[in-house]
Amino acid sequence: MIHLNENFTKLKASYLFSDIAKQVTAFTQANPDKPVIRLGIGDVTEPLPPVCIAALHAATDEMAHRATFKGYGPEQGYAFLREAIAQNDYAARQCPIEADEIFVSDGAKCDCGNIQEIFSLDTRLAIPDPVYPVYIDTNVMAGRTGPSVDGRYQGVTYLDSTPANGYVPAIPSVATDLIYLCFPNNPTGAVATKAQLAEWVAYAKKNQAILLYDSAYEAYIRDPQIPHSIYEIPGARDVAIEFRSFSKTAGFTGTRCAYTVVPKSLQAFDAAGKAHSVHALWNRRHTTKFNGVAYPIQKAAAAIFTPEGKQQVKDMTDFYLGNAALIRAAVAKLGFSCVGGDNAPYIWVNTGRDSWEFFDMLLTKAQVVCTPGAGFGKCGEGHVRISAFNSRANVETALARIAAALK
Ligand code: PLP
Repeated sequence: MIHLNENFTKLKASYLFSDIAKQVTAFTQANPDKPVIRLGIGDVTEPLPPVCIAALHAATDEMAHRATFKGYGPEQGYAFLREAIAQNDYAARQCPIEADEIFVSDGAKCDCGNIQEIFSLDTRLAIPDPVYPVYIDTNVMAGRTGPSVDGRYQGVTYLDSTPANGYVPAIPSVATDLIYLCFPNNPTGAVATKAQLAEWVAYAKKNQAILLYDSAYEAYIRDPQIPHSIYEIPGARDVAIEFRSFSKTAGFTGTRCAYTVVPKSLQAFDAAGKAHSVHALWNRRHTTKFNGVAYPIQKAAAAIFTPEGKQQVKDMTDFYLGNAALIRAAVAKLGFSCVGGDNAPYIWVNTGRDSWEFFDMLLTKAQVVCTPGAGFGKCGEGHVRISAFNSRANVETALARIAAALK
């Protein structure tokens, strides 16, 4: 008899965004005359930058000729892309990261979900609350947690992000081994300062732990004091892995390209205390289970590092940040406190009431979809996430409807 991996039965029955989709579908079916505006799911709406489209066309033409056709590429990514990333995302910020420490992939979701495979099952986890649900769910699937009791998986150290700490969690009082951090944060949009990240690096060093730093939204940082990479913190290359994505940077959510940085100086230990290279382990895992991102897609990704590409990415992220500024101003005018939106495409609104109830009220009274904070963790209760990913016209209409509904 085939037995299942019972860890999967510990997962909460459905995924947040399918719950939301069900409620929105039920509403639109019952009210076909009331068009809904979606400021819920974190997907981009603007087309790819023109430099990426030109690179995609040119690379597709290369695939049409025997002389330039490409079959399997290097699993870790083509050198032209890894070198462009090392130069523009790291050397330009004085981060000591080499091209061969960069692993190109088809998504930060897969990478931050898969990375846990190379660590032991008794690894002690620290996971922010609220946060991108992939970190916890993939560890539940692997069997690194107990069952969920009262909305929290047993055995996990949750890093509470609340109004009291400005949504930047404090260092835990207990030792942990694998710490997930996400700045700018999804869902709160909060960012961490260099001093705050330096404390995490020191904590990881002290505990011989590893930080998993997800900076999928770094392209939205506008405050020059806020670090874009964990490697801007001295010593971080000995204790941190970083995840980045072209999804929110350049509209690649449907095109799929991302990367993970695993420095060669990073170590993990076997049961006898012997040190092993995490880079070598991840390289082994990546080359065994992944066969590389399509050549035209890597060419399109590399195009964002040209001077025109950089300008087009800035214009696109500025556009979403313009939406975010309108949302922040409207929410503040209605008397709610909020964070995010200034260095991130998400605005985290402290509604002071049940987050699903607030979601329902916005859907039925304003026909606007937001994301209930409770879906991102226990500390998300009382909050909703509003996303800046939409057209300017839709954002303006949605804000006018919200203001009218809350009058
Ligand atoms: N990390 C965070 C924090 C995200 O919010 C998302 C997507 O919403 C991802 C990673 C996934 O990015 P990708 O599209 O590269 O899989």
